[in-house]
Amino acid sequence: MCDRDECLEARASISRRFLLAAGAGAALAGAGLGGRPRSARADSLAAVWPNAIAPDEALRRLVDGNARYAVNTARNKDLLASRAAQAAGQYPIAGIVSCADSRVVPELAFDQGPGELFVVRLAGNFVDDYGLASLEYGVASLGVPLIVVLGHSSCGAIAATLKVLKENAVLPGQLPKLVDALKPAVAAAQARNPADPLDEAIAENVRVNVRRLQEATPVVAEAVQSGRVKIVGGVYDIASGKVAMLQA
Ligand SMILES: [Zn+2]
Repeated sequence: MCDRDECLEARASISRRFLLAAGAGAALAGAGLGGRPRSARADSLAAVWPNAIAPDEALRRLVDGNARYAVNTARNKDLLASRAAQAAGQYPIAGIVSCADSRVVPELAFDQGPGELFVVRLAGNFVDDYGLASLEYGVASLGVPLIVVLGHSSCGAIAATLKVLKENAVLPGQLPKLVDALKPAVAAAQARNPADPLDEAIAENVRVNVRRLQEATPVVAEAVQSGRVKIVGGVYDIASGKVAMLQA
């Protein structure tokens, strides 16, 4: 785990290389962070990236936000207030890998406003190459310090994969590709709990994708190894609105 200054230096190093590789210029602006005294170098970097916070601090904000959401005391009501600042740039505090399910809305579930979450959504909340590329951009260029793989209760994509495995059902169109992506985690869960595998499959799918991100070289894995980025998993319960964080 890096301390704050080391995290900021690591972020600067990764982001510089990403931008150089992309041939892009860094048009970065933003307000500074308050808080405890830091080195001049850390202060200058934090002034560039308002989301330059430790992964555990980002996670704390999401956990606190979910607690507010679950009891209907969400604070993000004024969507006009920060719009001008958003036009100047984005500084999300977390990347989210979410299902496309219409009942799962990460910004609401974590009580975060526009510009605060970098969300990749795909039915079954798994990481494919395109999703990984988006998250690599989030880590290397936007400086997100945290990625949450967010499964949810009653996931239709996981249930469909279970049905295919149990009944050899044949799905139309491109749906078999989705099922193929989810099969390894779902099959492992089914083997462990054949009588009622859905919840276990939802959790296992989250764990599989957390590991995939942790091992996604070079961009995400390097950021994880330096301690600048943390990857965690959670499951959103549709009925209660609560997110249960999973142990690695
Ligand atoms: Zn789902």
